[in-house]
Amino acid sequence: NPLASPPRAWAEIDVSALRHNLRAARDAAGCQVMAVVKAGAYGHGLEQVATALAAEDIAFFGVANVGEARRIADAGVSTRIYLLGATWSEERAEIVARDWTPCISSLDEARHFDDLARAHGSRLKVHLSVDTGMGRGGFVAEGLPEILQQLEGMPNLEIEGIGSHLSSADEDEEFTRKQMAKYAAILASLGGPERFVWRHLSNSAGLLGYERESCNLARPGLMLYGICPLPGHSIALKNVMSLKSRVTLVRTLPAGHGVSYGKTFVTTKPTRVATVGIGYGDGYPRHVSGHGAEAFIRGKRYPLIGRVTMDQIMVDVTDSEVAEGDEVEMFGPNIRVDEVAAKADTIAWEILTGITPRVVRVYA
Ligand code: PLP
Repeated sequence: NPLASPPRAWAEIDVSALRHNLRAARDAAGCQVMAVVKAGAYGHGLEQVATALAAEDIAFFGVANVGEARRIADAGVSTRIYLLGATWSEERAEIVARDWTPCISSLDEARHFDDLARAHGSRLKVHLSVDTGMGRGGFVAEGLPEILQQLEGMPNLEIEGIGSHLSSADEDEEFTRKQMAKYAAILASLGGPERFVWRHLSNSAGLLGYERESCNLARPGLMLYGICPLPGHSIALKNVMSLKSRVTLVRTLPAGHGVSYGKTFVTTKPTRVATVGIGYGDGYPRHVSGHGAEAFIRGKRYPLIGRVTMDQIMVDVTDSEVAEGDEVEMFGPNIRVDEVAAKADTIAWEILTGITPRVVRVYA
């Protein structure tokens, strides 16, 4: 039991909620899914999440690099693995040998894979990556038919799929529709959707907010972890991670007493202050300081006061029974991580992936 000697901060991961969200994503997409588990499954634990989802109907696990692919495969998971970004040349021999699926953004990369597959005596399935507006990777639309022709001339590659990525599905509907139209036009210019076994474009916001006639695979990430990127959307997702700590100390400070670095908060009356064993060294964002962040203790929200420090935060628990040892939720079912993210002027993706290794992950 990892909590036998309690850590200062821990993250409870609800595995059945994760499975629920995966099914909800598949239902909402109305097609097969690639479960995006890069960045340690958005901080939830790569091997544990991949293992928990392995028995589900998933076409691919989407990862960022070979290190992540290796960790999933070495955990004994046999679901196909897709590399979401461009690859280093040093990574490619292993990709070929272990039959992972890369996306191709350049002819040089493709030629290298073709050579490696020939040397290995295999034919590697690859997906063509096309840039419909993200500006991060993939071929731009111009000259794509000729490029596809060249790729088809590489005997040890099988062009199995075609993918693109939405830059603004959670914030700009008009541009997203343009990207979708561009993707459909590219497919048409390459011989129609049927030319490719897999056609994929949508992240969580894309699959929740838009129809995607030409696609048969969606790539949800965030929504698997219980957060809906489209505010007000009706989909019922379940909270997966709860970031917790405990009260380490409770004291009453007199009026006029500064709290934390820089004395940005000064008590105006005698104030009961709980010190809690979590800080930015755990990934709880320092940037929430002074922006109304709260902690959930004994069924109630209490305001953070003063700056978040590396290992400790202070909470105003005046007029409460809060005591040393009490459990504290920093985010979870009662304080949503996107609320914390907004107060830190960032996004839920960054908060989740930034929870540091010293936070013990507990799976239930
Ligand atoms: N597809 C690609 C190429 C990505 O980079 C990501 C994540 O950033 C996703 C899908 C999943 O996105 P989201 O977490 O918004 O669902």
